[in-house]
Amino acid sequence: MFRAYQLLAAALLIAASTAFAGETGVFSHQAVQTGDITLHYEFADAQSLAKQREFTAVITDGIRYYQQLFAGYPRDLTGKPYTDITVRIRHGKHLSGEADPKLLLLTWSDGLMFGIHNWQTLFLHEIFHLWSAESFRYQDGREHWFNEGFAEFYAFKAATQLGYISKRDALAIAAQPIGFYHSAKGLGKLSLRDAGKDNQSKLDNYFLLYHGGWVAAMLLDYDIRSKTANKHSLDTVMRWLYQHYPRNIKLYNNTDIIAVIKAGSGLDYQAFFMRYIDGTDTMPVAQYFDPGKALWDFEFNPKLQHQHVYLYHTLGILID
Ligand SMILES: [Zn+2]
Repeated sequence: MFRAYQLLAAALLIAASTAFAGETGVFSHQAVQTGDITLHYEFADAQSLAKQREFTAVITDGIRYYQQLFAGYPRDLTGKPYTDITVRIRHGKHLSGEADPKLLLLTWSDGLMFGIHNWQTLFLHEIFHLWSAESFRYQDGREHWFNEGFAEFYAFKAATQLGYISKRDALAIAAQPIGFYHSAKGLGKLSLRDAGKDNQSKLDNYFLLYHGGWVAAMLLDYDIRSKTANKHSLDTVMRWLYQHYPRNIKLYNNTDIIAVIKAGSGLDYQAFFMRYIDGTDTMPVAQYFDPGKALWDFEFNPKLQHQHVYLYHTLGILID
């Protein structure tokens, strides 16, 4: 009886693992060395394996870009910097991705998400999370506007500087989060912080949270640059968080972000945070910059481009 039970259990286990392999199985393993980084690929299908060089190019570019931005490699849960990453890639109908310490996941397709994200920019978003979210981390979901919005902001900025999207497109793309933020159903009723307080709210208020956070990143970066004649920017803030907030020692919240901006730039954004991040006032983008005019002048009026210098820096069109 006992033996029969054991055999049955073993048979069930084999059946379960075959089904599991069928669902999330690895078609091919491959280790690739790129500079200091070792990538341990797990491709789920032949289509993904065939694009290995393209994935490696984006990961190499992304890691190099963020490594310079943060002045260090991503860190694991014990705070130790690492250079080896497992990368699981599959082809699928919709784009999606995820990041954990030492791990990147990507489901890619040739389609666009929301008209702007291709798999390259989505991958750059996930690679950014190896630092922000996984090396330094929010105290709770109320800081998702920062965690997700800034990942979007830096993914597109990196994509522009690395040549994955054109400078012209960068300006057109910048208008999209502004539009989605201004037409989000929770606008004026729910603060950006409350929008991310739990997983359901994060999903229900996706455009308020991701695009509101992205708009906040653009406004803050632009404002810091214009008030300090381009001496400081959000880059200083990101580097500070990476250096002073290892997630194994302390987590950040809104108060920390305000303090870090002040420490890094000398500017006080407490009132801005009270109104637009903790409060339900709508960020007045037009009081800061005009992406339409900046695009018009980029295309047709080279003599007027100097009026948009800070915005061009914010979006990665001009390089610091
Ligand atoms: Zn994200």
